[in-house]
Amino acid sequence: MKNVSQIIDGKRKIIKKPELLAPAGNLEKLKTTIMYGADAVFVGGKEFSLRSQASNFTIDDIKEAVEFANGYGAHIHVTCNIILHQDNLKGIKEYLKTLDEIGVRAIIVADPYIMRIAKELKLRLEVHVSTQLSTLNLKAIQFYADMGMDRVVLGRETTFEDLKVIMEKTPIDIEYFIHGAMCIHYSGRCMLSNYLSRRDANRGGCSQSCRWYYDLYDQGELVNQEKDMPFSMSSKDMALVDHIGELIELGVDSFKIEGRMKSLHYIATVVSTYRKLIDAYCDNPDEFQFNDFYRQELNKAANRALCHGFFYDNPTKDEQLFNLRDEHPTQEFVIRVLDYDQEKKLAKIEQRNYFQLGDKVEFFSPHHENIVVDIHKIYNEDMEAIEVANHPMEILYIEIDYPVQSHDMGRKV
Ligand code: SF4
Repeated sequence: MKNVSQIIDGKRKIIKKPELLAPAGNLEKLKTTIMYGADAVFVGGKEFSLRSQASNFTIDDIKEAVEFANGYGAHIHVTCNIILHQDNLKGIKEYLKTLDEIGVRAIIVADPYIMRIAKELKLRLEVHVSTQLSTLNLKAIQFYADMGMDRVVLGRETTFEDLKVIMEKTPIDIEYFIHGAMCIHYSGRCMLSNYLSRRDANRGGCSQSCRWYYDLYDQGELVNQEKDMPFSMSSKDMALVDHIGELIELGVDSFKIEGRMKSLHYIATVVSTYRKLIDAYCDNPDEFQFNDFYRQELNKAANRALCHGFFYDNPTKDEQLFNLRDEHPTQEFVIRVLDYDQEKKLAKIEQRNYFQLGDKVEFFSPHHENIVVDIHKIYNEDMEAIEVANHPMEILYIEIDYPVQSHDMGRKV
């Protein structure tokens, strides 16, 4: 077990903070993710990455991402977790060398061939075993350690009890999912999407067929039509927000947030919430008291109801959403702050959703506490007063006494 804390000035402090690792589907989200407190971001490259739909990064994008991350002391991980078919092998060595040269911290891999060549090429970057391999036990972790791997991303199906056993003796770093969507099937090992939409879930093309609406038959009799209740197999999303302290005390090396396809508002909200929670716990673990603020924050961006996934044991019917697959954030993201003029008390903003005079907007940020403001003056780019902001991405100005900052976000209360 790793030593995670030390007495400093008579008070126990956490000296081994876990890495907070978050996803990004494009450069804008990546920069926001880092500004809102992620220590590392994982992205998919255009080549050799599993999530083909997740607007993947070119080499130039990855280069820009690394440079931006370096400015914040953060790191970039690149997924190379494609299940390789014979015709996917070409160019892999050159690709890995390029990622290494531009300063990528780690690649996330699933195919044993990529594991082997990444080590044979003697690259500086770390090699992380993808969650796609569903690693759930210490013996398998030892196997990957013997192959020279630097980290294992555990399967989402790892319970807390199993994690305790793993953290006692693991010879390499462990990454553990703390937040995100769950498959109804064993993570990714699912053929539903292949059969129903010809999109291969195991090669990044999942059409989330488990969340479609189905007719449900019991011994030949249609049972869900009468009640006009659609049947779906959607799982609630996982959130371990109330167990972060226990995971830190175990010495888990990296906390993973899932969701490369999620919105800017979602990722900023989730990352900043876990950032604040981890920092508060590590600063004073013995007096830390979990309060509902963190869960309430997550709920403002949560798409679906939240649960603990496999943390306690196999999920039960209570962790499923059998007839509900719609995704609704509880608060709408309406404003992105571009600049603030302290003298004129005027914020230059980008409109992200409809708002109008009289609305209450809550601004949140990595730099200050949440603040709720009444919108009482809106101007267009020609500084003409307007009453409604109804053009997506329009540049506008609002009067606001509180000094907001560039990249702060506002959501309608
Ligand atoms: S269809 Fe559902 S269970 Fe299957 S891989 Fe996609 S999200 Fe997972």
